[in-house]
Amino acid sequence: MPDLCSYLQEKYQMDPEFCDLARQAEQKARPEFEQIDETAKINQARVLNAFREAGISEYHLRDGNGYGYGDPGREGLEEVYALSFGTEAALVRAQIISGTHAISLALESILTPGDLLLSATGTPYDTLAKIIGVSEAEGRSLCGRGIIYREASLTKEGKPDYEKIRKLLMEKPRAVLIQRSRGYSWRPALSVQEIYDLVRFIKDHDSNIICFVDNCYGEFVEEREPTHVGVDFMAGSLIKNPGGGLAPSGGYLVGRRDLVTKAADRLIAPGLGQNMGTNLGLGPLLYQGFFLSPHIVAEALKGALFASHLFTILGFETSPAPGSRRSDIVQAIKLNDEEGVKAFCRGIQKASPVDSRAVPVASSLPGYQDKVIMAGGTFVQGSSIELTADAPMRSPYIVYLQGCLSYAHAVIGILQGVQELQCLGKKATATW
Ligand SMILES: *Cc1c(COP(=O)(O)O)cnc(C)c1O
Repeated sequence: MPDLCSYLQEKYQMDPEFCDLARQAEQKARPEFEQIDETAKINQARVLNAFREAGISEYHLRDGNGYGYGDPGREGLEEVYALSFGTEAALVRAQIISGTHAISLALESILTPGDLLLSATGTPYDTLAKIIGVSEAEGRSLCGRGIIYREASLTKEGKPDYEKIRKLLMEKPRAVLIQRSRGYSWRPALSVQEIYDLVRFIKDHDSNIICFVDNCYGEFVEEREPTHVGVDFMAGSLIKNPGGGLAPSGGYLVGRRDLVTKAADRLIAPGLGQNMGTNLGLGPLLYQGFFLSPHIVAEALKGALFASHLFTILGFETSPAPGSRRSDIVQAIKLNDEEGVKAFCRGIQKASPVDSRAVPVASSLPGYQDKVIMAGGTFVQGSSIELTADAPMRSPYIVYLQGCLSYAHAVIGILQGVQELQCLGKKATATW
């Protein structure tokens, strides 16, 4: 039997030196793997219990059709989500096409003209700029519809700036937007504890302010979710963490019943939203993916941790750095130049099960300001709970790596990325 190193050397043209480095990185990461496994068990227990309490049976695994009145599959799935996230209600639908759609739906449904929306975590994720209408208040954007938008930029350390937030709270916002994940930025993800502190601060000021969290990439990374610590309303994508890699489409909203009902009425039609619609045969995958999600998230976290140790050994700056607390699945690596980003992405692509022969190139994407390069041959298009690397093409050329359906795949993909970097002659500039 060949060992991994000689196999990778033969079939992946991998420099055997990297095998040693990979072993070192894995050795260093191991103590943190144990914590990840513990968190996965707690989250698995909570999700399993939600299935039990909702009494999910074979009958729920068949979606209805037509209007979807009393569709047990849809109703059971929304109950499982609500129980898992500790909320009064949930809206979980294949028709919500992405995280951006879910967030847009949430904000649109709670804000009316004249209301003020405050972002407490600085500039939101790139695709939200158009939804809010930050630079051009046109058409159907929030600002275009007469909603006022304010933003409290983060501190130098990438934390909520309480002084700025305190001042903006005086302007009486109707809702506060809190982004848990780093997005395309070097700041750390907000921990659930930090979200708790922030929500307490806002509610102490005025308990009527709706605290909304963009939970994309955050689900099941910690033992608790933002909705367990006082958040009113929260959204995410099913082709990220909670779809467990199996959901082919979808988004979710969880929170207070009145808010979820508003969003359902906005998605479907007033008075009908929570009671109608079917997932058109995708239900079983949405259930199974959610059940698997705590495990898949643990695999993704191990992959991210491995990358952070390996790139640290190689002399690159990583965020989170090894040993630091995580609250999302994203691993940022500062590759310092455009060629480095392209090379690493080429490697990730080469080590993908689908489209391994494709070469990723940076291009313009709807909703993003800079050109974005996206690598990852995924089973579900654009699914970033599968192993993917992407980067907006802007200085200081940071690549964002996330997801994997198995840790083993993440190791191989990351090594292939490092191999491509070496081919560029990066060896001369980094400290390895
Ligand atoms: C991915 C992401 C979004 C947008 O989700 P899409 O499914 O890509 O539309 C929004 N916010 C954050 C923090 C994200 O990571």
